[in-house]
Formats: sequence, C-alpha cells, structure tokens
Amino acid sequence: ENSGAAAGSDSGVKVVVRMRPQNQGEQEGDLVLQKLSADSLAINGQTFTFDAVADVEATQVAIFDLVGAPLVENCIAGFNSSIFAYGQTGSGKTYTMWGPMQALLEDRFSSQQGLTPRIVELIFSRINEIYNEQITDLLDPRKRNLQIREDVKCGVYVESLTEERVCTMNDVKQLLIRGLSNRRTGTTSINAESSRSHSVFTFVIKSQSKSLATGLTSFKTSRINLVDLAGSERQKLTGAAGEQLKEAVTSTDHFTAGAFSVLSNSLCLRECRNLINILAEISKGGKQRHIPYRDSKLTFLLQESLGGNAKLAMVCAVSPAQRCRGETYSTLRFAQRAK
Ligand code: ADP
Ligand code: MG
Repeated sequence: ENSGAAAGSDSGVKVVVRMRPQNQGEQEGDLVLQKLSADSLAINGQTFTFDAVADVEATQVAIFDLVGAPLVENCIAGFNSSIFAYGQTGSGKTYTMWGPMQALLEDRFSSQQGLTPRIVELIFSRINEIYNEQITDLLDPRKRNLQIREDVKCGVYVESLTEERVCTMNDVKQLLIRGLSNRRTGTTSINAESSRSHSVFTFVIKSQSKSLATGLTSFKTSRINLVDLAGSERQKLTGAAGEQLKEAVTSTDHFTAGAFSVLSNSLCLRECRNLINILAEISKGGKQRHIPYRDSKLTFLLQESLGGNAKLAMVCAVSPAQRCRGETYSTLRFAQRAK
C-alpha cells in the first residue's frame, strides 16, 4: 500500500533500517529481505525506501557516521536530539544502541561498540575542543597556556574558564555500566530485560560562556536522548489485548549524564505506540496538529527533545530470517510511517 514512498531527508525524522546478520539457527537461503540500493530494500517483492538501508556489512562505525555523528553537532550547537532504536526483540536494537556488554567493559575502544559510547566519546572530544577555543577566546592572553584540569571526583574542567565540569569518557562508561546494571531486574545483561523495557540514556550538555564585550554570561543546555525501545512485537499484544494492556507494565531506566541520576518509572507498552504517533506527526511537519506528548510518560519525558528544533533519528532493526517475516514487515511499515 505504501511501497516506494518518497524518502528524502527533509522530514523531521531520519529513518534508517538496519538488517542484522543471520544467526546460527537461521538457514542460508532463508533471507526474506533484499537490500536494493543505499536507501531501499525489498520484502516479498515490495519495495520500501528510507533515508538509508544498512545491511549486514554495515559496521557499528558506519551506523554511527550515519546516525550518531550528525546529531552530536546539532546538540553541541544547543539543540536537542534523539535516536530511537525500534524493532522486534532479537532484531539488533541493543546491539545498535550499545553494542555487546563485553565491548563496553573492555578498556580499549572496541569496534563493536554501539551508538551510545561512540556518541559520548564524540561529545567529549567536541566539548574539549570548545573549551580549548574558549581558552583563547575568553582568557587573558597571559593565561593562554592554562591546561584542562582533571578532578578526581568530577573529571575535566578548564581552570577559571567555566564552572561547568566535564567528566571523562571513562566516568561515563562507569555510569552506563552502573545504569544498565540497575535496570529493573538488577541483571548485568543489557539484553535480558530489553524486550519489556525502554532504556533512555540522556546526555545533558550545559555550557556557559561569558562575553568579554558585554560581560554577560549566557547559558545553553541541550540534550541528546539515546533510546533503546522495548521490543516492538509487544505492540501487537497491546493493540489486541484490551484490558490486559494495563497490566503489561514495563520500566524505563533513565539515567542522565550531567546530573548523573537514575530514574525508574513504570510504564505501559502503549507508550511505544504513542511515540510512533508523535514521530509520524512530527514527520508530516508544517501543519502540526495537537501532539499528544502527555499521553505517555516516555513522550512526556522526552517532550522537549521531540518538538521544535530537535533532531530525531530512528534506527529500525530487522531480522533477515523467514520466521521473522511478519514482524519485519510490520517494522518496515512503521518505519515508513515515521518518515
Ligand atoms: P534486540 O535488542 O532488538 O532485542 P539484540 O541487539 O540483543 O536485539 O540482538 C540480538 C542478537 O543479534 C545479539 O546477540 C546481537 O549481538 C546480535 N546482533 C544484532 N545485530 C547485529 C549486527 N548488526 N551484527 C552482529 N550481531 C548482531
Ligand atoms: Mg535489546
């Protein structure tokens, strides 16, 4: 019905479909998805077009270059950004947003690391650049050689330049690991609970700059939300199950870098749907009707980051396997709708 819909990156939401490789239980020749071009694929002879299609060859860094890096620049400029990973359980959402837990625990930077650690690292390197610029811009030239200092408790800061303290990538890594371990089950496995809960990692960038000309200090705060959604196959369940819906409670773990807090909320699966409606609404742009942010906690929480100048991207993860065909199809249809 909606095959071959126009892509283009003008819409409010950038939609990328990512196919994961077949796993051991899936036979060769079992593939139902075919990548046709950089931005289109076919399933059952039907063509879908998105902003980009990533196949099994796409590396974590390629996904980051496509989806992560552009949002960081937007965020550094003071605008909010969000990335959502959508798809059925087992399709590669957590792999995309985080990478394997093992990769996160490794000391060296692993090629397997997903969007979140890569984005955090880029933010830190960009922030340090900015601070360096501020040193030359704002300080007395005699103090030009001031170093960025590192505080045991709270990481990196530039002496007498700004009161904002920036923690190290490693601090953030510890936070991520702690946050992930603090999910509802207390499990250290990223994947264990991810089919029933959304995880939202919010990185808050607060900057403060003082104009030498006017002496005025200005403050800027922006957020980048990295969202690993609950498995999308549950939505069908919520759609059909009526009263059961209310009992299908999931959790959202929301940990904020900057404030370094962990929040846990009980949420309904209905939220995923609400989010989809909002994304679709935002995509249509222009004549936006009332956007029902308050209909769910997730979207209420993310409200500031969804509207206005916010940049949004969604990676829709799909399995290539025959047995997942139905879910894959509905994920693609959803992805199309969000475009
Ligand atoms: P989800 O979070 O959507 O439930 P996962 O991210 O846990 O799915 O992925 C399921 C399995 O497939 C995991 O073992 C993961 O490591 C693997 N996987 C997913 N995507 C990829 C990929 N692009 N490359 C390699 N392995 C992948
Ligand atoms: Mg997961």
